[in-house]
Amino acid sequence: MDPKLLIWDWNGTIIDDADLCFTIENELLRERGMREITKEWYLAHFSFPVRAYYEQMGYTFETESFEAVSSDFMERYRKRCASCSLRDGVMDVLESAGKRGIPQTLLSVTQQDDLQNQAHLFGVSDCFSEILGQDDCLCVSKIDRAKTYMDRLGIDPRDALFIGDTNHDVETANAVGCRCVLLAGGHQAKDVLLRCGVPVYDTAEALGKDLFR
Ligand SMILES: [Mg+2]
Repeated sequence: MDPKLLIWDWNGTIIDDADLCFTIENELLRERGMREITKEWYLAHFSFPVRAYYEQMGYTFETESFEAVSSDFMERYRKRCASCSLRDGVMDVLESAGKRGIPQTLLSVTQQDDLQNQAHLFGVSDCFSEILGQDDCLCVSKIDRAKTYMDRLGIDPRDALFIGDTNHDVETANAVGCRCVLLAGGHQAKDVLLRCGVPVYDTAEALGKDLFR
C-alpha cells in the first residue's frame, strides 16, 4: 500500500470500546423505560450521524433533547473508558509506522479535549503528529475536519490511508479522495463493512502485515 500518511480513527479502531458503548446505550434506554437493544442490533445499526441511530433505537427527542442524551452518554463514557484497552496488535502497527517514519494523525468524532485526554490515557498520544477531534460531543461527522486538514496539508490525498472501523470512515476518506481500510471487530458488524468496497481486516496484525511487507 505504501502510504505516506496514516489517518487513524479512534473508537473501535484503536480503542476496544464497543462493549462499553453498547452497555451504556442500554443503561440509558433502561432508565428511560425504553426497549433495550442486543449487541447484534448495535453492530448492525450503529452509524453516523449518531442522532439518526438514536432515532432508530426509539428516541424521539420530544421530552429530552438529543444534546442532553449525548452528554449523559459522554459523562458515563468519560468515567469508564479507562476500563477499556487498546485493540490487540494496534500498538505494533503504530510503532512500526513510527519506525518507518510514516506520520500518523488521529481523526475522530470525539470532542477535542476528550480525544486528547483519552489518547494520553492509553499511552498513544506520542504516536500522532496531530490529534483532530470535534468542537462538540454530538458525533455528527468528521468529514469537515478531514477536508480542512487535507487542504492544510496540501499533499496528494491518494498518499494518505484512513484506518477505521465503520462506514463513516470510508465516507470520510472518499470525501477527501484518500484510500481507506477497515478493521472488523469495532462498532459495526463485518457484513456492514464488507459492503463498503474497501479492504476489511479481521485483526490489526493482518493489517500491519499488508502495510509493511
Ligand atoms: Mg470508529
